Amino acid sequence: MAKNNSNFLFQRKFAFDYWDKKTTSLSFDFAKDYKKFLSSCKTERKTVNWIEGEARKIGYQVLQNIGPNTKKPKSLAGKKFYNINRGKSIIFAHFGKKKISDGLHLISAHIDSPRLDLKMQPFYEQEHLGYLKTHYYGGIKKYQWTALPLAIYGVVVKTGGSVINIELGEKEDEPVLMISDLLPHLSKEQMEKKLEEAVKAEELNLIIGNIAQPGKKEEENRVKKNLLSLLNKKYDITEEDFISADLEIVPVGQARDLGFDSSLITGYGQDDKICAFAASRALFDLKNPEFTSLVILVDREEIGSEGATGATSNFIIDFIGELLYLEQGEYNENYLRDVLSLSKAISADVTAGFDPDYADVFDPNNTARLGAGVVLVKYTGQKGKAYTSEATAEYMAYIRKILNTAKINWQTGSLGKIDIGGGGTIAMFLARHNVDIVDCGPPILSMHAPFEISSKADLYSSYQFYKAFFGAKK
Ligand code: MN
Ligand code: MN
Repeated sequence: MAKNNSNFLFQRKFAFDYWDKKTTSLSFDFAKDYKKFLSSCKTERKTVNWIEGEARKIGYQVLQNIGPNTKKPKSLAGKKFYNINRGKSIIFAHFGKKKISDGLHLISAHIDSPRLDLKMQPFYEQEHLGYLKTHYYGGIKKYQWTALPLAIYGVVVKTGGSVINIELGEKEDEPVLMISDLLPHLSKEQMEKKLEEAVKAEELNLIIGNIAQPGKKEEENRVKKNLLSLLNKKYDITEEDFISADLEIVPVGQARDLGFDSSLITGYGQDDKICAFAASRALFDLKNPEFTSLVILVDREEIGSEGATGATSNFIIDFIGELLYLEQGEYNENYLRDVLSLSKAISADVTAGFDPDYADVFDPNNTARLGAGVVLVKYTGQKGKAYTSEATAEYMAYIRKILNTAKINWQTGSLGKIDIGGGGTIAMFLARHNVDIVDCGPPILSMHAPFEISSKADLYSSYQFYKAFFGAKK
């Protein structure tokens, strides 16, 4: 028999209430590193470069294409490999003491975030102003992107194959780009529109200049010509080169502490770079794991995971096949399937935190609170559990045991009230390979806004949990 209430009630525990001074201070130090990462990794390409650099420092090597001539190493335990897919997704593996055929422990997060992309032919001018046309990527509230300093990141690839890196707007002495908003004085009609229609996708046009190229005053497009000539001087590119470009528009600004007590963090792209950071650090800090442990960082989650660099790509399974080849010296598809069926996975993604200003949309018992730790989400999706995988009771028990044994501050969560909306993660795409998987990550406020809000306690408890999951003996 339980002696008191606390023995049989499941209660949400706010981490800073329970942690000793040392753990709290470790969580603040961890957040410092995270903020640096978040500030300098606003796109998937930047994230891949940064994390690859960290991995190489501790001995991760590129997994070469493996074939019949590959020499099988004597022992694989402790060996560390990675592969990059098209500069936009990356997988890391740390070989454990057990064989791959005993199953893998995988954590996957996504490194793309909602933003504005440039259209293929973005340049135009109107009323002597130069503009770039954008196409939004992922679920944004369009009105949040006006009157906000914006930076441009990405690559332009010339037909000869040379890659020109573009990164402009973040440094203090660099110009920024901006989408205008209508002055309140003339906004009577706009203010009466539905929020969804107040700013339209085709109105998300970036102002990029106001000076015309010298020439005949009646000549058309002199501002556009002047801008293209400036870009040509700086980057050696022409208008046609923008057709082969990945250029992303993101908010300017560093990740910052939030609140007088500095307990929170605000920054762009925390969905899902907070999990990408926590999972990578968990893997990089791992010593002698029992099971071979993988971190999979994918692109394209925000638009449904389609595309060669997304979670539906064969890239992930082929990488695991190559690890198996390295161990077994042969490739056997049935064997690969057996490995996957024995594997355990975490879909490390953020979930909605309870926002008291919008309490109506949340089920208070089934929504995570900021500061109460990493969130276990049995299923995501929408309506009658559509478009989601769901973790089994058995797998939930397995995860719960890891959380409790490692004394992690954790809570449960779901996206919001049923039938009010919904959303998915990459969990269902990995589940297709017959892998046990569950969503587990920190809660976020203002998700998908130019600046999102997370808690240092939740960031650190996510890291602690991912580490415990990789370190599990079963
Ligand atoms: Mn996400
Ligand atoms: Mn998202």
